[in-house]
Amino acid sequence: MGDPTTYHFNLDPALRPVHAPLEERWWPGIRDAAIEASSARIYDAILGVRAVVIHATAGGSSASAASVIVGRKASFHWLVPDEDEPQHGQFVWATCHEARAAWHVRNACSHPAIWDGRRRINHWSLGIEVVNRQVRTDAFSDWQVEATAQIVRYAWAKYPNLRHVVSHAMLDPARRSDPGSLFPWERFRAAVLDGREDRTPKLVAGAAELEAVLPSAPFCMVV
Ligand SMILES: [Zn+2]
Repeated sequence: MGDPTTYHFNLDPALRPVHAPLEERWWPGIRDAAIEASSARIYDAILGVRAVVIHATAGGSSASAASVIVGRKASFHWLVPDEDEPQHGQFVWATCHEARAAWHVRNACSHPAIWDGRRRINHWSLGIEVVNRQVRTDAFSDWQVEATAQIVRYAWAKYPNLRHVVSHAMLDPARRSDPGSLFPWERFRAAVLDGREDRTPKLVAGAAELEAVLPSAPFCMVV
């Protein structure tokens, strides 16, 4: 079991993916509430994003997590469904506009390893909530780990200054332990850095190779 207060790793700019697709859908009807439950970023919406914060809900459903945003109590950018929900294995929920600062970490929280200990991390981060009850009997599914990693890869490809992936527990150890000791941080880290989910570019690369081998092949052969 891992210690969630130590969960973090950095993203090497040299390994930044060129393209990392994300299967996401907006949570139905949440967009207006998400604007009210978030703030305008004080940094540039693209260049100012430096970190991704990994959370787990401690609740058993996407609906209960989304209700926090609807109630304007807190917010986060994505929600990864639990294994007993129909969206599991299909897509993740978008729950707040990426261009806005969601309210997922207390303003006073910081860590020296994360952008030199700057505060107000919500303004320079993205937040992911993974639906999990945070009990021993509720393991994170392989898909949840891969889907969370793919969100990070998508963000890494999109935000050129994104460097840090960190747990909520590391930023706020006195009050938070998420995503918890059962979250397989090393496997998640490997999935982010290995990019096993970037299937589209691999197919494109394969097609390019085929064209190189068979320069006279008509396009319809590929279809
Ligand atoms: Zn959290």
